Amino acid sequence: MKMVIIGAGAMGSLFGGLLTLSGEDVWLVDTAKEHVDTMRSVGLTIEEGEKLQIIRVNATTDVTSPGKADLILFFVKTYQTEKAVSDSLVLQKEDTIFLTLQNGLGNEEVICKKVDRKKVMLGVTGQGATLLGPGHIRHAGWGETQIGEPEGGMSERANQIAQMFQKAGISTRVSSEIRDLIWGKLFVNVGINALTALTGLKNGQLLDYPETVRLMEALVSEAVAVARRKGIRIEEDPIEKVRKAAEATRENRSSMGQDFDHKRRTEIDAINGAVVREAQRLGISVPFNQAVSDLVKVIEKSF
Ligand code: NAD
Repeated sequence: MKMVIIGAGAMGSLFGGLLTLSGEDVWLVDTAKEHVDTMRSVGLTIEEGEKLQIIRVNATTDVTSPGKADLILFFVKTYQTEKAVSDSLVLQKEDTIFLTLQNGLGNEEVICKKVDRKKVMLGVTGQGATLLGPGHIRHAGWGETQIGEPEGGMSERANQIAQMFQKAGISTRVSSEIRDLIWGKLFVNVGINALTALTGLKNGQLLDYPETVRLMEALVSEAVAVARRKGIRIEEDPIEKVRKAAEATRENRSSMGQDFDHKRRTEIDAINGAVVREAQRLGISVPFNQAVSDLVKVIEKSF
């Protein structure tokens, strides 16, 4: 399978590096010239604790270089998806698969505006990575990756991709209910990300104050109400799940917290903002998500 990763930042480089190491035919496409130049000249450096490995990867800023792709994997930020999808169309052939493992909600819709729905697959990943500098990332999380068909059920192509990821050391499972899992991950991001950004707290500190606990529970409860109306199956108690996630990552700043620290645009539109959009479609009121989303967007304007 020839695979092209569009957006080879922290996560795209991680997947691209590990898949290259396992012998797959992978291209990393990124618009950040210095990052790509470093990967081409020095290689991609992946740091894991004390271990450093430098991997020779196929990296380019020119999306036409790889030729036609069997699998296109999007790892751009959610607000970059629309442009990335347009760019990726030159890689398309009749049976190309377009897979997104990005966070949040709405990536599927954006991809399907330009790509035949039958070609699109979805997923979530518990892997984590940080971009330390050009051509240099830290592998920071080893959670499971789950992929699946948007319409549910199992498929040969999903199994094939999962096997390829497994072989590269990326623990992967095919899910017949991938939408439920996307919402499950969304609950965690909805409860933690914007609150840590707005308060400057670390993830675990949200549990230390009655005010942030109350806000977290309100945000997640609203998202759960929307999910239920959409027919999403919710197994574990979502509030408990978010608490556990905050505790397990107690010392971390969430990605949105880090975006605020560096005065960068956030993925709010795909997280709390997406809950607001879905709620509006269903005629449900979600005042906490609306407020948090508005606050984040106003602060972003000053960056
Ligand atoms: P990142 O900012 O490190 O990487 C995005 C990369 O995309 C950048 O290098 C940027 O230059 C590139 N890019 C932007 N537009 C492009 C285009 N049109 N063509 C090619 N490249 C383009 O972001 P990240 O942390 O790797 O996150 C990517 C996605 O994965 C996000 O949705 C994020 O929420 C999700 N995610 C991240 C983590 C993590 O630990 N970092 C974990 C799980 C999910």
